[in-house]
Amino acid sequence: MTALLEVENLTKTFSMRSGMFGDTITLDALVDINLKVEKGETLAIVGESGCGKTTLGRCIARALDPTSGSVSYTPEPGKTIELSSLSKRELKPWRQDIRMIFQDPMSSLNPYMRVFDLVAEPLRIHKLARGAELEQRVVSALDKVGIPRDALQRFPHAFSGGQRQRIGIARALVLDPKLVIADEAVSALDVSIQAQILNLLEDLKTDFGLTYLFISHDLGVVNYIADRVAVMYLGHVVETAPTEALFERPRHPYTEVLLEALPIADPTRRAQRHEAVKGEIPFLGNRPKGCPFHTRCRFAEDKCRAEKPELRPINGGPTYAACHFAETIELKGAYDDAPAT
Ligand code: SF4
Repeated sequence: MTALLEVENLTKTFSMRSGMFGDTITLDALVDINLKVEKGETLAIVGESGCGKTTLGRCIARALDPTSGSVSYTPEPGKTIELSSLSKRELKPWRQDIRMIFQDPMSSLNPYMRVFDLVAEPLRIHKLARGAELEQRVVSALDKVGIPRDALQRFPHAFSGGQRQRIGIARALVLDPKLVIADEAVSALDVSIQAQILNLLEDLKTDFGLTYLFISHDLGVVNYIADRVAVMYLGHVVETAPTEALFERPRHPYTEVLLEALPIADPTRRAQRHEAVKGEIPFLGNRPKGCPFHTRCRFAEDKCRAEKPELRPINGGPTYAACHFAETIELKGAYDDAPAT
């Protein structure tokens, strides 16, 4: 597969005023992120709130400007665009290729706009169609997501959460994107509706050759939809792996913690799980030296407090982990609690 998107040494720092004297503090939201998104795959970005996954998605889509590093987009072999160095004007044509879907369609859809105008808006902004062609493209995008033509003149509040998310997806699809960044796209929906939207995203991926960057805190959802997973902790990518490998044999202790938070039915087996991860997630403005996870890791040693581990292939790949002891520590997978059959 060809990498559609490559992120190299991406950092994002926010400065803010704090305390009685208004001192300026800096928060490193993203630290040296390196990632590839292969054409046609679904790469999930997972981690707790505040780990940087939404900031990463926004820096890739250039809704935020990275502080340093690069985001390279290769729509076809031999044609690579360095998105992070483009001006807003130069970026505009490429915004058609990379679209975002957001968590809460009620707040991302203007409540005063009718469905037709909501879906037509991106075409109008990019001056891609008008008149009969505009209408045809709007109707076609809505048809792809299962919203009927008689919805065109209605307002978002007339629809259920799942239908509103379908309209949000139609707004992304109407520009024929290549990469869709879905930021917690099903998190606000009931479980049965989540399944419908995930199946829709799968069908659209197959039918239109899409690539997804799927940002989520929900590992159950990620297990269902992702081909590969990148785990983030405190602004770092600490593990990347094919989904099955990550769930069966995690290589970073933080990934194990996330997997242990997955719900299991049997309370006796739940009690056998490791103690919940200790401590709070550190403040971004006061990150630990060495391994960013050492303050909460049950395997931490002196080396972890002194040296920051690099993300590196484990036993030749395809799993990469940023842990000094990834080859030797014994971690539990998601299915290790399952009763024997
Ligand atoms: Fe834990 Fe050390 Fe590995 Fe960091 S490097 S995850 S502290 S064992």
